[in-house]
Amino acid sequence: MRKIDRFAAKPDYRKTPKTDYYCINCQRDIDPSKPHRMVHAIAGGDWYLHPEDEDQYVPDGGDCGFLPFGNDCAKRLGIEWTHEGQKP
Ligand SMILES: [Zn+2]
Repeated sequence: MRKIDRFAAKPDYRKTPKTDYYCINCQRDIDPSKPHRMVHAIAGGDWYLHPEDEDQYVPDGGDCGFLPFGNDCAKRLGIEWTHEGQKP
């Protein structure tokens, strides 16, 4: 099961989000009606699961679910590690 360290996308938590829908990597607000990405955060949020390995993942107490991820941050992480964003 492939997973990537959350620090791979060089997170920056200095910004304070204005809405409750924001990139978990840089905390910039995301317009949910516009194209964006999501990651599946596991192990308490320390790792992101590869989308192609979803069927191998057994949810446990560390499952943080699918969280919004901005397009720029997704490019830094590697777009293949992200899912298409869904309107909440
Ligand atoms: Zn971001």
